[in-house]
Amino acid sequence: MKAHDGMYIGGEWRDAAGTDTGIAVVNPADEQLIATVPAGTAEDIDTAVRAARAALPGWAATEPAERGARLAALRDILVARKDEIAETVTAELGSPLPFSQRVQVGLPILVTGSYAELAATYAFEEKVGNSTVCLEPVGVVGAITPWNYPLHQIVNKVAPALAAGCTIVLKPAEDTPLTAQLFAEAVHEAGVPAGVFNLVTGLGPVAGQALAEHPGVDLVSFTGSTAVGRQIGATAGAAVKRVALELGGKSANVILPSADLAKAVNVGVANVMSNSGQTCSAWTRMLVHTSRYDEAVELAADAAAKYGDRIGPLVNAKQQQRVRGYIEKGVAEGARLVAGGPESPREQGYFVSPTVFADVTPEMTIAQEEIFGPVLSILRYENEADALRIANGTVYGLAGAVWAGDETEAVAFARQLDTGQVDINGGRFNHLAPFGGYKQSGVGRELGSHGLAEYLQTKSLQF
Ligand code: NAD
Repeated sequence: MKAHDGMYIGGEWRDAAGTDTGIAVVNPADEQLIATVPAGTAEDIDTAVRAARAALPGWAATEPAERGARLAALRDILVARKDEIAETVTAELGSPLPFSQRVQVGLPILVTGSYAELAATYAFEEKVGNSTVCLEPVGVVGAITPWNYPLHQIVNKVAPALAAGCTIVLKPAEDTPLTAQLFAEAVHEAGVPAGVFNLVTGLGPVAGQALAEHPGVDLVSFTGSTAVGRQIGATAGAAVKRVALELGGKSANVILPSADLAKAVNVGVANVMSNSGQTCSAWTRMLVHTSRYDEAVELAADAAAKYGDRIGPLVNAKQQQRVRGYIEKGVAEGARLVAGGPESPREQGYFVSPTVFADVTPEMTIAQEEIFGPVLSILRYENEADALRIANGTVYGLAGAVWAGDETEAVAFARQLDTGQVDINGGRFNHLAPFGGYKQSGVGRELGSHGLAEYLQTKSLQF
């Protein structure tokens, strides 16, 4: 596949500073090498941060409407190139092409469009009594993104940062750098001035860490594992700089006794299997009342079995091994496998079968840790208090769902959940609603006006 042999810094593609042989990009569906991209070093990060800092005064002073116009142009280019981007996501991540088109690229197009509008309409100044409160860009943003939604995760940070008037250095995931390179091309074509957006591909502990530690970065926005997020938070804390963290999840799908069980289970299974389970907000724990438990297990097993060949592989061999390890652990700890299992369903590619466990108890590893694969755990509860205790009983709090015959009943339960987002009776994803975690699922919010606010700092002028 097409790949740039350089970094996008200061408005042009430049050779990497190091002489490294680069990062191999592998198609996880057939394990074939599809491209190689350069592995950036601390020197590349430093060059990119300097370019971002040099571009900051000009971009921060640009009229919001002009920033909105650049974002609108970016959205139009993403629309024009959507097939090419979707094919690239499918090649390097493995998600089936229709999913790449509809979600992996469709969603970031919507988000970019929303920030084009917000840039032009947001109240960057407000009157509070005898003060004028000015919302100013935070400065240079270091964005570090994962591979699970390669374009969406980038756009969730870059679009609001651009709208706010910040400049950016992006270090994308090493598994999916080609999508990031296409995004950089689109930003360039959209006429975003040189240095406002910069891309350095590279390894997490090298380029990622250099970016997180760079004194010229004012805000680090990270999405990925809780372990790395904790480290980035500590580094940012020591330097007293802003940090936004989108981390893991172990979301509960609570099916109350009055719910439409078949619908709740089928939508719940689809939610977990989507993107092969590589979604931080996936409803990986299904909580069912004891009176309807056996029926729910049967429905879920049937639904998962129907997935068969329809799900893509996991992103790489390491993730495949990790997920298979969790499935083995579930069996070892006494959960009952009712669909799937640890064996790879194909000889080639990093596939894992859609897997469902019954008789999962809250303290089991598969009920506590984020698996990041197509694995559903079904837990039993005796009454609502029990359901609430189980649902809130993990270190995470990113998303969740509540199903009930009566919407008011579902909402009353949802209000008691310690989590950042709850779908009521299968509510639709809203790209304008704030997304982010309670507890160890993170700090800060993405999407919509709340996402924009992350990239602003506040100054009051008193009269
Ligand atoms: P990761 O946290 O290792 O990587 C995410 C990003 O951080 C990548 O760009 C990576 O290069 C970078 N990174 C890694 N180490 C770094 C360091 N020391 N300093 C700075 N940046 C660093 O996540 P992963 O290996 O891609 O996935 C592992 C687990 O993370 C998954 O199994 C899943 O549990 C979780 N995850 C969560 C999300 C999410 O959206 N919340 C997304 C992907 C992965």
